[in-house]
Amino acid sequence: MATSATPPSSVLIIGAGPGGLCLALSLSLLPQHIPCTVYDLHPSTPSIGGAVALTPSSLRILDRLGVYERIKHRGFQYRALRFATSKGGTIGDCIFGTEQYPALRISRTILLQALHDVAAEQGIHVQWGKKALSLQETEEHATVTFEDGTSATGDMVVGFDGVHSRVRAHVVRSALSAKSTSNPDAYAAQFAGLAGVQFLTPLPLIRFPPPPGHAEGTPPPLPMLILAQEGSFLLFPSDPEGQEVACFSVWNTEVDLGREGWERWGREEAVRWVRELHKGWPEPVKSALESLDPSQVHVWPAYSVPPLPAWHSPRVIIAGDAAHAFSPKGGQGAGQALEDAALLSRSLFLVSPQYPLAQALRVWEARRRERVKFVLDWASRADRGRREGKSGWVQQKIKEYVLWAVFALKGEGATRALIGYDTELVDLGA
Ligand SMILES: Cc1cc2nc3c(=O)[nH]c(=O)nc-3n(C[C@H](O)[C@H](O)[C@H](O)COP(=O)(O)OP(=O)(O)OC[C@H]3O[C@@H](n4cnc5c(N)ncnc54)[C@H](O)[C@@H]3O)c2cc1C
Repeated sequence: MATSATPPSSVLIIGAGPGGLCLALSLSLLPQHIPCTVYDLHPSTPSIGGAVALTPSSLRILDRLGVYERIKHRGFQYRALRFATSKGGTIGDCIFGTEQYPALRISRTILLQALHDVAAEQGIHVQWGKKALSLQETEEHATVTFEDGTSATGDMVVGFDGVHSRVRAHVVRSALSAKSTSNPDAYAAQFAGLAGVQFLTPLPLIRFPPPPGHAEGTPPPLPMLILAQEGSFLLFPSDPEGQEVACFSVWNTEVDLGREGWERWGREEAVRWVRELHKGWPEPVKSALESLDPSQVHVWPAYSVPPLPAWHSPRVIIAGDAAHAFSPKGGQGAGQALEDAALLSRSLFLVSPQYPLAQALRVWEARRRERVKFVLDWASRADRGRREGKSGWVQQKIKEYVLWAVFALKGEGATRALIGYDTELVDLGA
């Protein structure tokens, strides 16, 4: 029987994304081994989505789970993101990797497949084609009902079910009914007014401007973020040899095309828009756009989740994008989901008569809110220069100078707290 003074003996995880699979693996590898089942609405491992950038704080977690070795040579490893001016000048290098864990940009599909393979070896099988619709909980259990009419009951339910989470509504309703009468619908995901537009281009098709004193351009170290008065353009390889470059721009648009609309018209609109925005930009953007193959364009509409009154009820938790969705500009979404999962497994393992479940969940939520706020603040500071739209010449020079000063004066210190975070070292007060 489930009690609040012992670790749960069965956990139901909704969502087989990076967060859900990482939690399943973390629970199965604990000394105490907490059995779990993962459910996902897809019929099988989804093969959609672009690449995600992972920094040492998440690679460390994947290493402990035995996943890192399988993926580290399957994506693009890098130490720093170069900030450059539109004329080809270097502003500075923002350090994202360490010697032990170079940062890794990797296809979301490869990451998910590796997590899934290791999970299967641990005896964790995802139940595909199971769309969670609603939840009920008692003091001791939580029950999920699926679209196919079946249901499952466990000691706990964890919703790693992404930005359009179903589990979130249950947690919010539970928090609000305990507190006030605010409207739970106010906490649904909202379109953030922008979409990431990405297309793949072979490196040899991109021409780089020659450095001063040289006749020909050679590729500078990638990834590279080009900052211009009109906006920004990111060049980011995602294959091990760095020969296939993802070109990334952020499309500011008030109109949410809706889920179907993004798939049907989003790509065409995005191609038109990206060509228009970057028209007249010098190399390397010029040649990258010339090589644009519309069939290689991927559009990722960004939704944000308003600050929630709670991330958990007594026996139901939300985490990852379900609790805190990130803008595509921050590039931290997958990493934060992995951190949520790794810390949650530690918290559940520690439950005891002296450290009851309610306390473990309260501390987990507080620690993760603190960390997510730090990462969001960091991402929005780093992104300020890109967000403000077209800037004047003087304003642009000031932005470049401020960034140069941060990289030159702080060096590795500029990102130490971001990439040095270790879930194993977080004080849980147990
Ligand atoms: C299609 C896609 C493409 C992305 N592309 C990029 C990218 O290019 N770059 C980048 O940095 N980040 C990208 N992201 C975002 C990044 O991957 C997320 O921040 C990160 O994956 C969050 O992990 P998560 O486990 O919390 O949620 P998700 O990865 O969103 O996973 C949620 C899972 O829950 C399942 N699910 C949802 N609702 C239900 C339900 N009711 N019942 C059962 N299962 C359900 C979904 O099928 C999905 O598998 C993408 C996300 C998605 C979904």
